[in-house]
Amino acid sequence: MQPIIDIHIHIQPLHMFKPHALKLVQHGRKDYAEVEKYSSDPTAFLKFLDEVGIERAGLINYVSPEVIGFGPDVNDWIARYCAEKPERLLAFGSVHPKFVPDAGAEVERLRDLGIRALKVHPAHQVFAPNAYRDGFGPLAAMYEKAQAARMPVMIHTGTSIFPGARNLYAQPLLADDLGVDFPDLVVILAHGGRPLWMEEAFFLVRRHKNMYMDISGIPPQKLMEYFPRIEEIADKVLFGTDWPGPGVPEIRGNIEKFRALPISAKAQQKILYDNAARLFPVHP
Ligand SMILES: [Zn+2]
Repeated sequence: MQPIIDIHIHIQPLHMFKPHALKLVQHGRKDYAEVEKYSSDPTAFLKFLDEVGIERAGLINYVSPEVIGFGPDVNDWIARYCAEKPERLLAFGSVHPKFVPDAGAEVERLRDLGIRALKVHPAHQVFAPNAYRDGFGPLAAMYEKAQAARMPVMIHTGTSIFPGARNLYAQPLLADDLGVDFPDLVVILAHGGRPLWMEEAFFLVRRHKNMYMDISGIPPQKLMEYFPRIEEIADKVLFGTDWPGPGVPEIRGNIEKFRALPISAKAQQKILYDNAARLFPVHP
């Protein structure tokens, strides 16, 4: 079987969640015991990845004291976790410019910790991804340092149902400015703006040379309806599941359904592996 890179999995410190946010993660999950086990044991998680054919996984964490409960120490937690096998576990951390004294210096601190990429979650961090254009200076400092350090930035796009989420900030088009102002920064639009703004995501990926998207959180059976022209951007789409997010029951079934879609074998290979392997070389 061809190896897979799942660029969007949430292995998170469950003890740092606010109770109502954790409730949403637990709600209706038959596999919550596994979520708990994998979150505390990277060796068990790697074994699971072997079973489902995933070679490497992007493990997404972000600072969101207001909505989810995570402080800046979430970065140290995921860096420690991924240190177990950094060639397979790709740590995604985050800099929330309101909760660190120097956003640029924090990017360098994270890079030195082994964090491979940054996550920006506008709906949970309560700022627009282009807020630097309205005077939020430290956000520009963060993007500048990430660009210089060649750290990709993943931006959540699309609605969120977590209590307190601000969906106005989740619109892909707000990330258009990043392609203009930081043209060498690799930007990954998580979730392709689903379920409301797919055309915006498609436009941005085509417009900006370093803008990509992942298909995580999109039920595979909806993918062709959401992105009927996905073959045209097959060089810039990354496979991801968003497991164990709300509405993502399991990884294995997600992969099987993706493989069954009417997408050419060549494009599937790019989406399942090649594009992410290019952006995240084993030795950065
Ligand atoms: Zn996610």
